[in-house]
Amino acid sequence: MPDEPAFGTFFLPGPTEVRHEVLAAMTGPMIGHRGAAFEALYARVHTGLQQVFRTSRPVYVSTSSATGFMEAGVRNAPPGPILAVVNGAFSERFADIARGCGREVAELEVPWGDVVEAEAVAAQLAVRPFSAVTVVHSETSTGALTDIRAVSAAVRAHGALCLVDSVTGLAGAPIETESWELDFLLTGSQKALAIPPGLAFASVSERYLAGVTRAEARGRYFDILEFERYAAKQQTPNTPAISLLYALDVQLAAIAREGVEARWARHAAMAARTHAWVEEAAAATGIALGILAPVGARSPTVTAVTLPNGITGTEVVRAVAARGFVIGDGYGQVKDRTFRIGHMGDHSVEGLERCLAACGDALDALARGHT
Ligand SMILES: *Cc1c(COP(=O)(O)O)cnc(C)c1O
Repeated sequence: MPDEPAFGTFFLPGPTEVRHEVLAAMTGPMIGHRGAAFEALYARVHTGLQQVFRTSRPVYVSTSSATGFMEAGVRNAPPGPILAVVNGAFSERFADIARGCGREVAELEVPWGDVVEAEAVAAQLAVRPFSAVTVVHSETSTGALTDIRAVSAAVRAHGALCLVDSVTGLAGAPIETESWELDFLLTGSQKALAIPPGLAFASVSERYLAGVTRAEARGRYFDILEFERYAAKQQTPNTPAISLLYALDVQLAAIAREGVEARWARHAAMAARTHAWVEEAAAATGIALGILAPVGARSPTVTAVTLPNGITGTEVVRAVAARGFVIGDGYGQVKDRTFRIGHMGDHSVEGLERCLAACGDALDALARGHT
């Protein structure tokens, strides 16, 4: 179809580029959300979500952005202080949400770009009890990937609940909800799942669910007991974004065809290519580029590239845009000294290669004082 725009120019770390087939699915007709057609749709996407979450437990579907389920995770947790692991803008947001929900919050902060080790979390939990720990799997502002399996095991060993934001992790980075016994795992639709923004997904452990009735003010829209009750009927508590569920249905079928593990491998390959390109581009342009996250703790879905003084992320993004590709500028505290490439969703190494070539050309022009 000649009038479809070619896929592969949008490398923002969220929202990510959506394939035409997925966008087109959203033009399907409206159906009632309390009827058989909806229940069949729900059942289908639910099976697909369980495969991506790697769990046999329910996966809840919320018509909200991912932040909604970050708030749900906190609101439905039993009373008590929250320990927030902070290593970037989204983990800081998790801490802010907990404070906004009236919780006492202690922050365990490491420099942006780094990750917190499970031992450091355990040391905090040994000092005094916490109801829950918030942690971000793939910190989209820095490109750092936390070892969620180890952190969650340490949290569980101390009797607290582990609330995990895997918004740019799930469907791009390996995560095992059930076998890692993650208490609350959430993601959004517009990152590695590569459908448009507007849906959030979460799965909770039995341990988490057992504590929900003790929460002091669950509210209504994000009451996990409501999600649990309706999930059993293949429904959502309120009117869902039906059009987005059509997109999700098509996308989950594509993910099943690719295979979740193959999807992880494709993301790992895109990250490896990006890391190698940073070195190549530094050598070619003479610009002292680097990668913010340390080796061994880099996200397969997003890379924050560091810049020397004299060039800002905004300038790089603008020069790359002039060459036909969209990448992200820096975020929060590292806004000026980084730019970010989102290599997630349905992109391929070949498509990424074209984006990296445009980035290299843009950097070369900046190094020579042109744009
Ligand atoms: C994008 C993002 C969020 C917020 O998602 P919204 O859908 O905008 O609410 C939260 N955490 C991480 C790690 C993200 O990348």
